[in-house]
Amino acid sequence: MKSLRIHRLIESGSCALGLLLTAFGFLSLLRWAGSEPHRHLIVLAVVIASAALADLISGLVHGFADHFGDPQTPWLGPAFIAPFREHHDLPMKMTEHDFIETNGNTFILICLALVLAYGLGGSMWMAFLAPLCAWVAATNQIHKWAHDPERAPAVYRWLARHELILSAKRHAFHHRGEHASHFCITFGRLSFIADRIVNWARDRSLRSSQMGRLK
Ligand SMILES: [Zn+2]
Ligand SMILES: [Zn+2]
Repeated sequence: MKSLRIHRLIESGSCALGLLLTAFGFLSLLRWAGSEPHRHLIVLAVVIASAALADLISGLVHGFADHFGDPQTPWLGPAFIAPFREHHDLPMKMTEHDFIETNGNTFILICLALVLAYGLGGSMWMAFLAPLCAWVAATNQIHKWAHDPERAPAVYRWLARHELILSAKRHAFHHRGEHASHFCITFGRLSFIADRIVNWARDRSLRSSQMGRLK
């Protein structure tokens, strides 16, 4: 019980710190762009490329958590694998989670990434990493809204209706059968890449375990 309270405290602190660091990163990026048009284009390109990368990362993390290891796997099992597996059995349970429960673990990773970027390369590294962190931070929230669009904000519903973000319709394909496709959960657009990588790795691992049994 006490460890749960401590984890909740760490998650809450990470959400607050992660939001502050991401906002600071964005401000540094805008300050760097100043009033030079070519730098504005670079910022736009970074924001778009970060969105694509976040979508791909969401698909790879989700796919590997779905099909490799189990909830008892040391370190990653309880925090990252268990929630994805539980989500297949009880897809609507995540819609009862509050903001901290939904996003806390992601913000812990974001804080670590931004602090590391600042430590290694200073505020500019942090600035260029901020858009990726913002998209990654939004991923679990978007996934939750895709499961409960009725209670999501109007802006999500508008974006989802125009397929500009992960929609309930697109995500429903993942919850069919063996949960072996449509892994991306930010925009859902790069699943065709993530699905191939995850299923290729899964086939390889199945084949090598079959070979191991035959030896
Ligand atoms: Zn899944
Ligand atoms: Zn889902």
